[in-house]
Amino acid sequence: MFESKRRLHMLHASTVFTLDTSAPFEVVDVTDRVSASLARLGVRAGLASVMTRHTTAAIRLGEAETGLFQDFEAFLGRLAPPGQGYRHDSRPVDDRKNAHSHLAAFLLGASESFPLREGKPALGTWQRILFVELDGPRRGREVVVTVVGE
Ligand code: ZN
Repeated sequence: MFESKRRLHMLHASTVFTLDTSAPFEVVDVTDRVSASLARLGVRAGLASVMTRHTTAAIRLGEAETGLFQDFEAFLGRLAPPGQGYRHDSRPVDDRKNAHSHLAAFLLGASESFPLREGKPALGTWQRILFVELDGPRRGREVVVTVVGE
């Protein structure tokens, strides 16, 4: 019976960066900022997670192309249009009628994870790490980068 004798020296590290957005809907390519965070964290191989700490924003992997972002905005507008008599809008906790923003965030998801190769995100050719603002403009949006590996 083969039994691996190799011990992994697992590292775990996390960091946060912030960004400001300037429109109700905005896609921000954060790939370079995530890569810089990963370089500082110093894990060479393993799994990384990128998460937004907000309920009206999302993190997705996708192609960074302006026309596609416009299509994305129109698509979300059809799926979750604003002002549909949502219950959340009759009792906004932050003076924003933003039920449609929360609904889009539910569909998209708050995080993505991906493998690391030599300390960098091992993404596909056209994949970028995208922060999706769904209720902007906002200041100080937080993105958490976490790695587990060696
Ligand atoms: Zn809300």
